[in-house]
Amino acid sequence: MTVSLLGATEIRRLAGELDVTPTKKLGQNFVVDSNTVRKIVHAAGVQPGERVVEIGPGLGSLTLAILEAGASVTAVEIDHRLAERLPQTAAERGVPDGALTVVDADAMKVTALPGDPTVLVANLPYNVSVPVLLHFLETFPGLQRGVVMVQAEVAERLAAKPGSKIYGAPSVKAAWYGPWKLAGSVSRQVFWPVPNVDSLLVGFVRDEQPRGSEEERRRTFEIVDAAFGQRRKMLRQALSGIFGSSAAASAVLEAAGVAPTARGEDLTVDDYQRIAQVAAGSNL
Ligand code: SAM
Repeated sequence: MTVSLLGATEIRRLAGELDVTPTKKLGQNFVVDSNTVRKIVHAAGVQPGERVVEIGPGLGSLTLAILEAGASVTAVEIDHRLAERLPQTAAERGVPDGALTVVDADAMKVTALPGDPTVLVANLPYNVSVPVLLHFLETFPGLQRGVVMVQAEVAERLAAKPGSKIYGAPSVKAAWYGPWKLAGSVSRQVFWPVPNVDSLLVGFVRDEQPRGSEEERRRTFEIVDAAFGQRRKMLRQALSGIFGSSAAASAVLEAAGVAPTARGEDLTVDDYQRIAQVAAGSNL
């Protein structure tokens, strides 16, 4: 199968034909460089026959590169004009029938995906990149791995380890599902329009065994939010609201093997999960 990718001129022509002026609100920065979309697909290790989900296919540049690699794609796009046009673009450029399914919807709200995808590949809309990633990881346990392109700072945060300045609530929440690793950089010049931030690729591999129940995840994330909500405070103080008092917070932290004087940025996801487990056991 030969799929022909979209070049810069074709992307602008397509946008003009659809009367699409890229909007900041929807994070519409389209990739206009074939090498870049192939680099993303390569970083994701997409194999023929794999089932990929793409969030925000836009005019289809990355979508076509995933299809070129022989995978099938379920693409979720919020902009109706783009969602409506994508199947035609794919057919015109050599994609066989049935290889692409377009879901015309807000990715933050989808709760079912046709095609049962196992790999996530996306150039994510910047404004919702972290919430949409967490929504997909939580809602679709069949997603085994993925590579996404996001704003450099967000990628660094997702892959950050405890103790670093950039380590925050998204780092711990992302780590709940498995390890994350930076997977390459992308020049801002390959986008149209050119954004005023740099981008990085970041990838994850889901742990084979789920870490805990939905209830435990919810409790853990609540504690993470409280810890980073007041990240400069010691944990016994930052968690006093959740546990009723700073003495109660200290007792839970000590029982979980965490120093009450530590700060949120010092703890691993395992530490946060242990705190949630101790709290659940003592009905706090
Ligand atoms: N994949 C294309 C590319 O690489 O050229 C477009 C990427 S662009 C950064 C983000 C895309 O996500 C846009 O097409 C935008 O309309 C879409 N989008 C924004 N918010 C969305 C949401 N909540 N659900 C689904 N798609 C969304």
